[in-house]
Amino acid sequence: MATVVKTVPQPVVPRMAPREDLNPFRIAQIQFDMAAEYLKLDPGLRQILRTPKRVMEVAIPVKLDNGQVKVFTGFRVQHNVARGPAKGGLRYHPNVTVDEVKALAAWMTWKTATVNLPYGGAKGGVVCDPKRMSKGELERMTRRYAAEIQPIIGPEVDIPAPDVYTDAQTMAWIMDTYSMTVGHASPGVVTGKPVSIGGSEGRSDATGRGCLYVVEEACKVKKISLRGASVAIQGFGNVGSAVARLFAEKKAKIVAISDSRGGVHNPRGIDPLRAIRYKERAGTVVGMPGASRISNDELLALKCDILIPAALENVITLHNADQIKAKIIAEAANGPTTPHADEVLARKGVFVVPDILANAGGVTVSYFEWAQDLQGFFWQVQEVNSKLESVMKRAFNDVHESMRKFHVYPRAAAYILAVGRVAEAMTVRGLFP
Ligand code: NAD
Repeated sequence: MATVVKTVPQPVVPRMAPREDLNPFRIAQIQFDMAAEYLKLDPGLRQILRTPKRVMEVAIPVKLDNGQVKVFTGFRVQHNVARGPAKGGLRYHPNVTVDEVKALAAWMTWKTATVNLPYGGAKGGVVCDPKRMSKGELERMTRRYAAEIQPIIGPEVDIPAPDVYTDAQTMAWIMDTYSMTVGHASPGVVTGKPVSIGGSEGRSDATGRGCLYVVEEACKVKKISLRGASVAIQGFGNVGSAVARLFAEKKAKIVAISDSRGGVHNPRGIDPLRAIRYKERAGTVVGMPGASRISNDELLALKCDILIPAALENVITLHNADQIKAKIIAEAANGPTTPHADEVLARKGVFVVPDILANAGGVTVSYFEWAQDLQGFFWQVQEVNSKLESVMKRAFNDVHESMRKFHVYPRAAAYILAVGRVAEAMTVRGLFP
């Protein structure tokens, strides 16, 4: 087995710039530029792939429970559709910006190409604070957003899915609103919906499960046993809580978990099922008995074998990359590591499984869900999980092969693979007109 390739790609980023640009879209462009350099992409193709294909901004008027009307701002960005329909999640968060959604859409293009799904990339976002909204307000906002973006979504066009602070219920409302508009049930317009309306078995755990499969492979490369390995997880939502549960089933030791209010730490191990039950009651993991309180920053710097960011972007930066002690970082979140932090981590020999590979299990089972919806023929959970395992392990091997071929660290290798696949699709299709 080859050892970890520590060679750093040619610096497109000025080395150790004193201040980092944390704009997610500029970060996504830096990551793309690096791969484009390696692939010696044609300048015209570079211009096309650096820019989203379509950016839609919508005003979403919503009648609040107190009778007043509030207008929310929403976005849907389609980055590229050369390999198939646009695909990507929908995020509700007060800090959503168009540049964040553009970055997340571009990352979806590279992610679907890394795992070789017949999709392009998209993302949606609504600027709102879902924790301060009632269920009725969330439903009315979701349905109006769905109606506003209806002209550019559809099973063959663009297929939304859950992301931060959206879930299966959100997808059910979008599916219903779209279906009412087109006049027939259209389950294939969204994925991550409840099983009762055409969702897939295994979708709710898929991102965490996919992360587990690629970490198992990374452990082989780093010669670490997952059994008994210490794991720290930042973010305890859809993805982070599934990661904790699935890694614990493999006898890894979950030493720390956190959410937006802070974290908890126990070097002897935290029981994820107890943590999930506690969070359901208390709304946070903070205060959970049998573990001491730590901050999110302290969690990232903990001595552990595997660190799993599963919350938001830009948490590992030039500011704290040097303090990271984990041997493997698996990016369950999108965009948690900045390009400058990447350089520091590569020099330290940390194996970073990049987001476009580490969290691709979600979109992979979304693809299975969509394929089941289109055929009206549904699979057992065992079939879903075993197909997911083979997609993730093949993608890991493809990335590992690309590391060896180009002598680069894993993110660069994944980008070279993904950008190469999209560039090939663009080239063979040609430019219209
Ligand atoms: P979620 O809303 O279910 O959970 C987010 C978690 O992050 C919550 O526990 C929240 O408390 C925590 N959090 C929020 N702000 C934080 C902060 N400042 N510090 C620490 N924790 C914070 O969202 P999710 O679906 O689990 O998504 C998490 C990440 O995984 C996102 O980056 C998302 O894009 C990515 N992702 C999700 C999926 C999916 O299938 N849901 C697929 C691929 C990637």
